[in-house]
Amino acid sequence: MKKNVSITDLISKSNLEHDYDPNAMSVEKAKTWIANFLSPVDQKETIHIKDALHRIVAESVIAAIHVPNHDNSAMDGYAINTDTLNGDGPYRLQVTGKIFAGNQLEGDKKEAVRIMTGATIPLGLNAVIPQEHVEIHENFITFKTKPQLNQNIRRIGEDIQSGQTVFQCGRKLEPCDLGLLASLGIDSIKVYRRIKVAFFSTGDEIISIGNSLSPGQVFDSNRYSLIGLLKSLEVEAIDLGVIPDSKKIIEDTLKEASEMADVIITTGGVSVGEADYMKEILKKIGEILFWKISMKPGRPLAYGKISCCHYFGLPGNPVSTMVTFYQFVREAILTLSGQTPIPKIPLIKAKLLSPIKKIPGRTEFQRGIYAQDDEGIFKVSPLKDQGSGILRSMSEANCFIVLHEHMTHLEKDTWVDIQLFDSLF
Ligand code: AMP
Ligand code: MG
Repeated sequence: MKKNVSITDLISKSNLEHDYDPNAMSVEKAKTWIANFLSPVDQKETIHIKDALHRIVAESVIAAIHVPNHDNSAMDGYAINTDTLNGDGPYRLQVTGKIFAGNQLEGDKKEAVRIMTGATIPLGLNAVIPQEHVEIHENFITFKTKPQLNQNIRRIGEDIQSGQTVFQCGRKLEPCDLGLLASLGIDSIKVYRRIKVAFFSTGDEIISIGNSLSPGQVFDSNRYSLIGLLKSLEVEAIDLGVIPDSKKIIEDTLKEASEMADVIITTGGVSVGEADYMKEILKKIGEILFWKISMKPGRPLAYGKISCCHYFGLPGNPVSTMVTFYQFVREAILTLSGQTPIPKIPLIKAKLLSPIKKIPGRTEFQRGIYAQDDEGIFKVSPLKDQGSGILRSMSEANCFIVLHEHMTHLEKDTWVDIQLFDSLF
């Protein structure tokens, strides 16, 4: 990482009176604050392009050749020289040669050359007539219309010009990009190293799958939601398991994690219960920026640092874990990964199909199901069960309904903003 901005320093330098309340941060302010501490990774590695899907380009890529690197035919047909077609058609040309893709001209290029898609246009010829547009006779062709100059010819460099910048630093490589690199003959590429993310669940009642439940215990679902979320972000995920509500063990695990990771994510233990130690431990071994957010679900969310390592303490309730990850951790990890620009989650306007109760002063992310009607208008229904422990609501929903801080109760047919789950990565 380039720089290590200290939370304590920044807080002491800022004019905080109206801006900073670690006990009730607005969603937008919290994001702005966190952004101060996020410096993109600068270590690079060279990898084969077949391993480069979704990696971030770390050095701009300049084309060393033209693509295509020769004028070639876009059709199966006949290459001709339009300059030799005098007067009005029909025209008659002798077929004096033929050429297949990747092969040399056989015969002569004097009049018309039988040519296949991708074959080099013989020097001196300047258009290709598709075979469907000619009448074929024994050794000549006839056709009615004079083709345009360069018709059906793919010109040298029309896809990419030699010297052109193909990708800038910060580009996230998509499947087509791998093909584009290959079309330039490039087999390896410099990318930023992956961000390392260590994560663990906390709670005496939390049991890993594979064990049986005793009364009062619950299976650890958060770690598996996180595994899924991190897989879609192309990071190196370090799973540290489930940690009991023990100050000593949590502290040791956090210290250990901070030595091997760029980001630590924990779930649980950040609210105000008696066994919620994360805030206290963070204050002791690192720094903490805030521990409560004006949002629902997800109020007990903490952000801090342990030396250079970023810490996100997500709430334990399974829906809150996911919502806070999408709204905060996603953007932070993308920034650290070196991707530019960071794709913001688009907000789409949708018509509410049933009323929603809401109090102002906090941002809500309700789970909803949207569909587009015949006119393409988005319509959305909030799910009935909005409890932060009801993970099923995330599976059933296909969008978040974003109820901004200032909003109050919303009537049916009000326009609201939604975030499609499909657009979250
Ligand atoms: P906490 O934030 O630790 O107070 O936990 C809030 C609620 O979320 C409690 O009911 C926990 O049992 C539950 N919870 C915490 N962590 C997990 C987890 N990893 N998987 C499933 N439920 C959890
Ligand atoms: Mg707990």
